[in-house]
Amino acid sequence: MPLPSEILINLYPIFEKKVVHELIRGSLLKNEISDQFSLFFNHLIQAIETGDPSWFDPLLTSWANSLTQTDLAEEKNVINEFINELVQIINQTIIENTVPEDAVLLSSLLLPIYSYLFTKTANIETEQKILFLTKKLNQLQTDLVKLDESKSNFVAVAAHELKTPLTLIDGYTSMLIDVILKQNKNDLLVFANGIINGSKRLRGIIEDMIDVSLLENDLLKLNYQPYWLNRILEFVIIEVSPVSQERNLSINIQDFDGFSDMNYGDPERIIQIFRNLLSNALKFTPDGGKINIGGRKLSGFIEVLISDTGIGINLEDQTTIFDKFNRLGNIALHSSGKTKFKGGGPGLGLPIAKGIAEAHGGSIWVESDGYNELEFPGSTFHILLPIIDKLPERNLMEEQGLNK
Ligand code: ADP
Repeated sequence: MPLPSEILINLYPIFEKKVVHELIRGSLLKNEISDQFSLFFNHLIQAIETGDPSWFDPLLTSWANSLTQTDLAEEKNVINEFINELVQIINQTIIENTVPEDAVLLSSLLLPIYSYLFTKTANIETEQKILFLTKKLNQLQTDLVKLDESKSNFVAVAAHELKTPLTLIDGYTSMLIDVILKQNKNDLLVFANGIINGSKRLRGIIEDMIDVSLLENDLLKLNYQPYWLNRILEFVIIEVSPVSQERNLSINIQDFDGFSDMNYGDPERIIQIFRNLLSNALKFTPDGGKINIGGRKLSGFIEVLISDTGIGINLEDQTTIFDKFNRLGNIALHSSGKTKFKGGGPGLGLPIAKGIAEAHGGSIWVESDGYNELEFPGSTFHILLPIIDKLPERNLMEEQGLNK
């Protein structure tokens, strides 16, 4: 009676023919299917003769190592499927070409080998996949860090490159003014001042664009310090007073609980919030109008309200005005002066104010009965700022030089 391995060896030509005929597809081992099957078969014979299926280990490892990125990205286990197909062909061939006793004997020997093969390939292939995914994740992380660096580099380069020529313009203009004054050609001063004003406005726009970029990329760093809301508002009111006086706009402040308390935040940035909101209130209120500033203390927050008697804002625009470059109305009809009634602007003031408030953990929103340039319903901007009674930990560490 032939040995089980001899029965299998006798069947080899049929196995091979079927394997090549049925498995010649897919990416795995496509060109070398017959060689690989011959290897597989030799290992199978060895495993049967020794009763030790671990003979397969090097072959399975070499298959796993030859998996392509596409194979590894697949949800199914490619080698496991391949072995499954081989097993089916082998079983089918045995049933069709041996007597039942031999078939039973062979399957009792092959079953534990198959079970070993499936468990082993599943493990090896999963390990390879984990390795592949870990590499991919690491690569993604490196790419993200690079992207983040290039974003912040862009902001730094833009800030520097755009401001440098302005500094040159300012420098030459002040030299020009000196010459004009020395040569007593005072009628030319108006042109020099025109250049200075234009350059100042351009600098403001560049700074706003940089701020928007910082806020969008989460790169805005807040320098927490004590601040007093009443002082900040008084400061901003003095800043805008040339405009309010010129346009006969009154600004009234009503004291409220918490208004003169010390709080922690970035005073420079909070000034920016109120500067933007107050400039808008002046800009969108006709000459002779009123701006009221009040507020209240809430649990954990101070709410400041800035109301104007201006043109108002339609309900559907009350959220979009906080998106960047969003200005309402026909831009061609905007007056060109920045502080004039309905003066033009790039539409960055509100997104910046909102971004700064949110970076502090606060928020900004607007209420208005709608837009009407005949009845002037006005708008009320609400600014919510958190009450912070001690220096935040991160800022404290930076102050003490503990943060790297
Ligand atoms: P900019 O003032 O540069 O246009 P902002 O972001 O500050 O940009 O404001 C966006 C738009 O929101 C303004 O163009 C204006 O249409 C509207 N807006 C802002 N504040 C007011 C206000 N107080 N009253 C009426 N409309 C306002």
